[in-house]
Amino acid sequence: MMLERDFMKSAAALAVRSVGQAVDLVSGGRSCFFTFHRVASTERWEALPNRNFYLDLTFLDQLLAYLKESGWDVVTIAQAMALENDAARGRRFVNFSIDDCYRDTYEEVVPLFRKHGVPVTLFVSTGIPDGTMPLWGAGLEDYILNHGSITIDGRRFETDTPEKKRSAYLEIEALWDGPKAGEHYHRFCIENGIDDAAMHEKHAISWAMLEELAADPLVEIGSHTVNHPRISSLTVDDAFFELNQSKLRLEERLKIDARYFAFPYGRAADCSIRDFDIARRAGYAGVATTRKGLVGKGQRPYNFPRNTLNGSHRSVLHAELHLSGMTGLAARLIGRV
Ligand SMILES: [Zn+2]
Repeated sequence: MMLERDFMKSAAALAVRSVGQAVDLVSGGRSCFFTFHRVASTERWEALPNRNFYLDLTFLDQLLAYLKESGWDVVTIAQAMALENDAARGRRFVNFSIDDCYRDTYEEVVPLFRKHGVPVTLFVSTGIPDGTMPLWGAGLEDYILNHGSITIDGRRFETDTPEKKRSAYLEIEALWDGPKAGEHYHRFCIENGIDDAAMHEKHAISWAMLEELAADPLVEIGSHTVNHPRISSLTVDDAFFELNQSKLRLEERLKIDARYFAFPYGRAADCSIRDFDIARRAGYAGVATTRKGLVGKGQRPYNFPRNTLNGSHRSVLHAELHLSGMTGLAARLIGRV
């Protein structure tokens, strides 16, 4: 991270930036939506068993400074939609949204955006502050981070080095992932004497935190379902419940107008035309996916592309690949949408 400035002067970085400038000449303004989940300091990030799920906070700080230096305006989704409607030629704007929302959204992410004086969007799964959605990934990771071994269904995993912690996490995550993940986690808590409620509170965002954030003009809040299911796998009625109920819950609890929604997972197989229509019926004004790419002129409001930033993004060059539209183009070329 210390060499970021030198790296940005390198030939590779110059090539990426000149593509970005060429895109500017051809298309005028550009709009790029980013999304991520959690953050950690560089030191903490190094040790985390599931570190790909976290953005390095130093990188995010550098990215926000870089965007300001290079003429990108950070805006809310409401502002981005208004700018699209105005067809603001030549302007470049970017939105950041945080999906799910953990305690670090309140403690670390929003304070960083405040420091830069720019807005941020939170897509909340309401089962997190309500305590009804098991944060099994966070609980599993916490236990692995703080223990030298772990026992699951009688099987023992050694977790006494950072490498072993990472491989154990990945193996167990693959075993649990799916609709029964919460049940696996519940059994694991009993087997290892974990206080499930205390662990949830340690990692979850709370309604008290969200109330404080909702009063901040730099924070825009939208919905990310109640229970974080893969919407395409649900019946129409169940999908409508997830989209509608989470909206109503946010509006009732925070006294806000929750106008925007982000699909969990969000790739082409996770949400499609049927689900965009459900989002419209549930009363949303705009809906985001995680299909890579830029928001272009004439973008329909029910499937905004967003570029996911994760732990492997530790250089501004990586972000520039998204800002130039190159990653979206590559994803379409190879059919990974
Ligand atoms: Zn999510």
